[in-house]
Amino acid sequence: MTHLMNTYARLPVAFSHGDGSWINDTEGKRYLDALSGIAVSTLGHNHPALVAAITAQAGRVLHTSNLYRMPQQEQLADKLAMLSGMDEVFFCNSGCEANEAAIKLARFFGHQNGIDSPAIIVMEKAFHGRTMATLSATGNRKAQAGFEPLVSGFVRVPYNDLEAIRAIAEHNKNVVAVMLEIVQGEGGINIADVEFQRGLRAFCDEQGWLLLCDEVQCGMGRTGTWFGFQHAGIIPDVATMAKGLGSGIPIGACITAGKAAGLFKPGNHGSTFGGNQLATTAALTTIDVIEKEGLMANAEAIGLMIREGLAQSLVDVPGIVDIRGQGLMIGIELDRPCGELVAHGLDAGLLINVTADKVVRLLPPLNFSVDEGRELVSRLSMLIRNFLGV
Ligand SMILES: *Cc1c(COP(=O)(O)O)cnc(C)c1O
Repeated sequence: MTHLMNTYARLPVAFSHGDGSWINDTEGKRYLDALSGIAVSTLGHNHPALVAAITAQAGRVLHTSNLYRMPQQEQLADKLAMLSGMDEVFFCNSGCEANEAAIKLARFFGHQNGIDSPAIIVMEKAFHGRTMATLSATGNRKAQAGFEPLVSGFVRVPYNDLEAIRAIAEHNKNVVAVMLEIVQGEGGINIADVEFQRGLRAFCDEQGWLLLCDEVQCGMGRTGTWFGFQHAGIIPDVATMAKGLGSGIPIGACITAGKAAGLFKPGNHGSTFGGNQLATTAALTTIDVIEKEGLMANAEAIGLMIREGLAQSLVDVPGIVDIRGQGLMIGIELDRPCGELVAHGLDAGLLINVTADKVVRLLPPLNFSVDEGRELVSRLSMLIRNFLGV
């Protein structure tokens, strides 16, 4: 460990192999995985269809670069366009890269429309990544501290507040886009109201702005629809994805529609690895399995079951502020910081996360079963009760 840069407060455990929603550490202890490596392992661990597809692809070709055509990349773009109702896809390798592409695109759009200093409206408690532009768009002062000067051109508003956005439109003529997560992940599982989403879509159209949805965490079927914005029946101009897209193989995507499509030309943006054969094969297979195994419906049903189960078993517990979520993106907000629950979870054979200090975050694989849902509710409510001393 001594030669690793000290960028993570790692837990003292390492995993050797997993199957489905279960994972084993190097000492042979077994854990129920209710985190999926932060919304990444969409299909759980060691899914046979994914293993077979990436193994076969590895035996053919892994990478050729974007100097050449790649049929898998074209197929995946077609598929994502169809699933989102959008037009064009740029592939990269992570969430922050997908958001970088979206931010560059919004600025490019501004310049093409005569705005020399384009601004993007972003949300309080947002998380968009750790690169300089995405860190600047992120609404977390702690993450930004020490990295100033930040990238300029971001204006921040409270989440779910259309009036605040209207007020900015009044005096700031440089705005070209609004960027948000439909369900904020790192910010504590905060959900954009359907009315807010629809109002924002209409207002962006009225103003000629782009609507940018960061679906890096809430996309890929996790909330019960392919994309979070589909619950409100809206389509953004730009959507970004990553985390669960490749079920563990790194891949990101920036998808455009309407007035955001057709903007970039060769030379405007690029990525060496972006969308290579291995990554796009993993994503195509992930989508295929989600469809064949009905995993969005499962995410919706099991997510509801877990939320109801927790609400029931924690009903008389005073320290619980809220239990909320959509599909398999679930937050349990306590009235006090509860980071230590993560270590208690490890002891109890359960992988969970705490974000925004006080919110226990659950992001299980989309193929979590009813039994695993029950097991999660029982282990977690016990942990929370013990932690709160009730
Ligand atoms: C994780 C996350 C990112 C950053 O993704 P990386 O792959 O870590 O760069 C961006 N946006 C959201 C909403 C995320 O949850």
